Amino acid sequence: MRSLTYLILLSLFIIGCQKEGPMGQLSAKGNEAFTVYEGHYLDALWKLNPDEATNEGYHKYDSLLVIPNDKSREAMLDFVKLQQDSLARFEVNDLTELNRMDYHILQNQLEYTNWKITVLKSYQWNPGYYNAIPTFAHILNENYAPLTKRLRNFYQKMANLPAYYKEAQKQIKNPVPELTALAIDQQTGGINILEKDFVDSLKKTNIPAAEQKQMTDRAKISADAVRGFVTWLKNLKNDKPRSFRLGKELYEDKFKFEIQSAYTAQQLFNLATERKKQVHKDMAKLSRQLWPKYFGKKAMPADSLDMIAQVLDTLSAKHTTAAYLQSTIEKILPKLSAFIKTKDLLTLDPTKPLLVRKNPAYFGNAAVASLSAPGPYDKNGNSYFNIISLTCLSADKAESYLREYNNYTIQILSIHEGIPGHYAQLVYANKAPSLIKSLFGSGAMVEGWAVYGEQMMLDNGYDDSPEMKLMWYKWHLRSVCNSILDYNVHSNNIRREQAITFLTHEAFQQQAEAEGKWRRVSITSVQLDSYYDGYKEIMDLREAYKAKVGDAKYKVKEFNEKFLSYGNAPVKLIRLAMLGNK
Ligand code: ZN
Ligand code: ZN
Repeated sequence: MRSLTYLILLSLFIIGCQKEGPMGQLSAKGNEAFTVYEGHYLDALWKLNPDEATNEGYHKYDSLLVIPNDKSREAMLDFVKLQQDSLARFEVNDLTELNRMDYHILQNQLEYTNWKITVLKSYQWNPGYYNAIPTFAHILNENYAPLTKRLRNFYQKMANLPAYYKEAQKQIKNPVPELTALAIDQQTGGINILEKDFVDSLKKTNIPAAEQKQMTDRAKISADAVRGFVTWLKNLKNDKPRSFRLGKELYEDKFKFEIQSAYTAQQLFNLATERKKQVHKDMAKLSRQLWPKYFGKKAMPADSLDMIAQVLDTLSAKHTTAAYLQSTIEKILPKLSAFIKTKDLLTLDPTKPLLVRKNPAYFGNAAVASLSAPGPYDKNGNSYFNIISLTCLSADKAESYLREYNNYTIQILSIHEGIPGHYAQLVYANKAPSLIKSLFGSGAMVEGWAVYGEQMMLDNGYDDSPEMKLMWYKWHLRSVCNSILDYNVHSNNIRREQAITFLTHEAFQQQAEAEGKWRRVSITSVQLDSYYDGYKEIMDLREAYKAKVGDAKYKVKEFNEKFLSYGNAPVKLIRLAMLGNK
């Protein structure tokens, strides 16, 4: 690996010497060299991190499992250093706009990697760091190569599993209890992949019996290694457990690397707090307007948040049934496409279908709804709108989901996950030919676009009833309050009861939803900021763009398409490209 990177360095140096050529030629060369460099960068990275490679759809290193020890971390730090040197040899101003974004994304990625290893050190306190099983599940469940080939890679990859878990036990010290509990659940849930799913799949192949026996034996040893790790975690003496809260300083740093925002975490928190106040005012106005229609002459509650909650509760009773959940969404999607066409908001690609399906079994207790888009290595794959199946839940539980995804919010959900949200955005992203942006781009851009899309549809008259507007505000408050909550919990130390009260009272969430959010905030950090941050930065950008082109010339479609043409780049880099240095 080292020699390969040296080779890149050397070739870059040679290119660096040709600076005298005419300008046009120079930048063409610089850009060509940069593209070659990106390819080498990725291959070297994937070799060091084969699990991530597999999960991103790059399957050359499927058979490798890296032992997460000091040596492999040092190799990663060497990689960072070498790549930082390599990057520094490019004259950033000679690069095209798109390459320049890649350059900055890589720079950030390298600094982030370095920070994670030398400062954050989650390999010491998060047992979930040692979560190899999902990659095995990916190899087993994703149909990218013949089953026989995938199973043989699976088998080879298992060879290091016992050493992998032994190393984990060496590294983990005073882990976070919440993350320990999660790791115990995940590892326990993963045993079946090795012991059952793998062995069952073997039977479907014509791999010779003797080889199958070897493979089954190794699966047994591997499953025992997982069980051993689980037992060790359960019995671990943890007198001084680390808090799951990141603390102000680590939080700001992580926010900077992960969100790649124009704002600091503290600034975003302040903006979200302001936004929440404004949304409450608007919601109160709408609720007051709707009150007589739904409650007649009944007295309005004095507390405006209580009044809003009652109106929301009444509107939530209008919903579909468990059996029709999927077909309801299937009917909404073409309506959304037609509306976007009529209003001329965005060009959609009719050759890329969006299929609605029930959550695949191996998703486990995943989200209610999500989007699976083809990865950058597999652009021609299908896009799926995954939706929870409610038919096997108890009536009570199903009813609670149905109220949450009522006749109003199910449309907003379809906008968010589907059109023009995640699905449409990722179709555009796959047209922007940049692996770097797809792989290391900005989650805030992706989530922000989906949140922005909800408002854009309503602003253009998709459904201008006050009921819809009020429900959208509730949905929107989720994003806003995600940011407030995440910051308050990780930087300001607020307690569980305060958080639950905040979510149920100020964001109008059901107890179960609020408890779920508490769980999420205690096992993740910063990710919850991506929704509101991305939305806010896109709204800022659109205002600035409008001012630049002038009201007379501004067209929302042009803004949307230009914005999406850069792929999953951080909004602040897109802003630079769209506005220049403003
Ligand atoms: Zn009901
Ligand atoms: Zn989303």
